[in-house]
Amino acid sequence: MPEEYNYDLVVVGGGPAGSSAAFAAAKNGIKVALIEKENSIAETVRTSGVTWIESIKEFGIPDDCYNPIKNFSFVSPNNEVTIKDSIATAAVLDVRKTYRWLAHEAEGEGADIFLKISINEVIKNENNDIIGVSGTGPNGKITFNSKIVIDATGFTSTISKAMGFVTQWKRFGAGAEYEATVENADPDTWWLMVGQEYTPAGYAWIFPLGNNIVRIGVGVGKPESDVDPTQRLKEIIDKQLGPIKKLGKITPIEFHYGLIPNDGLSRKTVFNNLILVGDSAGQANPLVLEGIRYAIKFGRVAGKVASDAIKNKKTDKDALYPYEEEWRNAIESKINSAGKVQDRWIGLSDKEWDKELDIINELKTDEFLDFIKADFGLSNMLKLAMNHPKLAVRQLFNLVKGK
Ligand SMILES: Cc1cc2nc3c(=O)[nH]c(=O)nc-3n(C[C@H](O)[C@H](O)[C@H](O)COP(=O)(O)OP(=O)(O)OC[C@H]3O[C@@H](n4cnc5c(N)ncnc54)[C@H](O)[C@@H]3O)c2cc1C
Repeated sequence: MPEEYNYDLVVVGGGPAGSSAAFAAAKNGIKVALIEKENSIAETVRTSGVTWIESIKEFGIPDDCYNPIKNFSFVSPNNEVTIKDSIATAAVLDVRKTYRWLAHEAEGEGADIFLKISINEVIKNENNDIIGVSGTGPNGKITFNSKIVIDATGFTSTISKAMGFVTQWKRFGAGAEYEATVENADPDTWWLMVGQEYTPAGYAWIFPLGNNIVRIGVGVGKPESDVDPTQRLKEIIDKQLGPIKKLGKITPIEFHYGLIPNDGLSRKTVFNNLILVGDSAGQANPLVLEGIRYAIKFGRVAGKVASDAIKNKKTDKDALYPYEEEWRNAIESKINSAGKVQDRWIGLSDKEWDKELDIINELKTDEFLDFIKADFGLSNMLKLAMNHPKLAVRQLFNLVKGK
């Protein structure tokens, strides 16, 4: 007999977006299933896990889930800058611990977690609206009927694709990294490495986790470059390029690989009985391709809006629109501004990168942080574009604000 379940809300994908949506919805008193295809939450890590302390505190992520970062170093072929802060503002997450904590929080509010179930089909009513999903698990076929489905499957956007609402992302980042033990690592400092030798479109990184463990990675923009990030990662480690040399002997612990959308905020994210959140919605800061804090923040918004809609017995796209409105108001203009900087960065030659680092070096710490977080407030941008003593900085911020 095929297994069949009835839930108010089904969340497909146990990443940060899915667990956060399940948490907020279950907290609001409805019956929630969170479905993950792997054997455990975060079995496979596909991210470098950098985020911001401000967001960590907002979400209540425990202190033992991250390593704080104070200093931000950049290296280009012939330049190097370090922006220092007196307190830690960034963090490198223990990804597995954090994602499992998020799922545990959802479970604590009463969400049922189903593991080892890969969802591959949608169930529709006579109006072609989604009313459930089905897939395969350890006991064969399994079906979940629900009033709303949240697509939190990440890059693949399995549910939205099965509904015919989206196609594969055209522009995206591909990243490969080793988590490794090294001889020397400054736990307070991250490194971003730019220029052709590191990667032709994107950046390479060293993110410390403390205890002489680091994540060393390479990201490559697609379709701009056909370089394979895994191959390039091996090459830059073999050549001991730039700050990699300072790490001494590198002993890999684990390999990570992943894809992140970089198509801007092009997708509609609410349909009748369906919400897209996290990477399936394209919610990523294009400057450094970070999406974890958006996945958690807007996952929670999605869960709250979906559960309110279910309680009000109205689950069409208009009832779910407050979710889209909230996240667009929060990040749309910032992501669009960041996209302009990214377009500029993708085209820089090695020499131009050397100069770009000089511009970055002109920013005060808080200006730099707003910049790299894509936290562009209009008044801040106007101030920098009009009043900064350096012409190059004024030009950069003129570009960001779109003049
Ligand atoms: C190389 C790389 C480095 C990155 N570094 C950073 C960084 O430093 N900081 C940052 O903030 N962001 C980073 N990102 C982006 C970040 O990882 C994503 O934005 C974030 O993971 C999005 O969360 P999500 O929950 O939407 O998707 P995911 O984390 O991808 O979670 C989706 C989940 O759904 C499950 N799933 C998928 N399909 C199905 C199915 N059919 N049935 C059941 N389950 C399914 C998957 O197994 C997975 O657990 C990076 C991305 C890459 C690729």
